[in-house]
Amino acid sequence: MTQKLHLSDPYMTQFEATITATRLREGRAALVLDRTAFYPEGGGQPADHGTVGGAPVVDVVEVDGEILHVLGTGDGPAAGSRVACAVDWARRFDHMQQHHGQHLLSAAFQRLRGAATTSFHLGMETCTIDLDQPPARLPREALSAAEAEANRLVWADLPVEAREHTPEELAALPLRKDATKGARIVLVGGAGDVVDASPCGGTHPRRTGEVGAIAVLRAQKWGAGTRVEFACGGRVLALLHQAEERLSRASAVLRCAPPELAVAVGKLSEEGQARRKELERLLVALAAVEADRLVGCRPAGAPVAVRLEGSLGSPAGLKAVAQALAARGRIALVGGVEEDRAHLCFARARGPGVHLGELLRESAETLGGKGGGAPELAQGSGPDAVRLDEALAAAASRAGVE
Ligand SMILES: [Zn+2]
Repeated sequence: MTQKLHLSDPYMTQFEATITATRLREGRAALVLDRTAFYPEGGGQPADHGTVGGAPVVDVVEVDGEILHVLGTGDGPAAGSRVACAVDWARRFDHMQQHHGQHLLSAAFQRLRGAATTSFHLGMETCTIDLDQPPARLPREALSAAEAEANRLVWADLPVEAREHTPEELAALPLRKDATKGARIVLVGGAGDVVDASPCGGTHPRRTGEVGAIAVLRAQKWGAGTRVEFACGGRVLALLHQAEERLSRASAVLRCAPPELAVAVGKLSEEGQARRKELERLLVALAAVEADRLVGCRPAGAPVAVRLEGSLGSPAGLKAVAQALAARGRIALVGGVEEDRAHLCFARARGPGVHLGELLRESAETLGGKGGGAPELAQGSGPDAVRLDEALAAAASRAGVE
């Protein structure tokens, strides 16, 4: 049984240990030690990284009561070796800030809103807790109040104690959740002044102040409850710098000061929408002119099969021209090429006549693609753009015969 040094001293980063066994874990060498300060993944807290006898540890897992130190490369030192071990403190301290921040935030939600935490996840950039109450009962003000309360506990710099408790001690504690997995309790606040008591096997700082700050970022519906996303300590700074960087880049592009971004983006969006509408109107006007020109140079009643270029050769342009031709009583069989792909649009006036949906399906097959639609209007496309003229000619002869 490996002695877990991190449970009594979460600040231990250097230690010596003897390798008692070597294992294989998902194709990688894994070492078992007689004692370890490496935290194995569990309770929402990821595993520590570091080195054992100079070999890089990339994962630590507890399997059937054995703590496996999984190596990134190589076999590492042999069983029986006495080795120097080092825990990656930056990673561990970040996990301690996030995990203890979670305890304080969960305690705040419990105390202020009676919302219990059902699970915790410590992610790469942010963390989440799932609360047993729906978002409707946790509006923005409730999130802000819990954030403020959690930070009050941080800045009060209260003592934190994490240790095993006797059944008698347990019975006297105001536990936030049942101690189902053991009697190790993380206590916040001094003796007789317990602010939070929660069963936990994680690594926690000596004082709440080490968490630094807790920022609640957002909340969303999660099953019947709410998922709250947050970040603590150094991550709050990292997120602030990241947000600042993004705002600066956006401000530079829009040539405005960051506080004016929302107004500038709103204006830009409105302008974009107005331009899209104007573009549609112009396309329809251009299509009408083109339809008049095409009708004028063809015998009355004959289908108009033609390849269109430029804006009118796009799917939207083809549809506008085809509908304009149909409005002039013609069978329209138009095609165009956009980004190396051939597009088709067939249209005619309502009433009896050739089924353009079926006709287009055949034409699209010639182009190696798919398409279809109603008897009076059909669209499709295919990758064999070089066969567009052939497909249009075949459709024209079919439409003229039927
Ligand atoms: Zn915990």
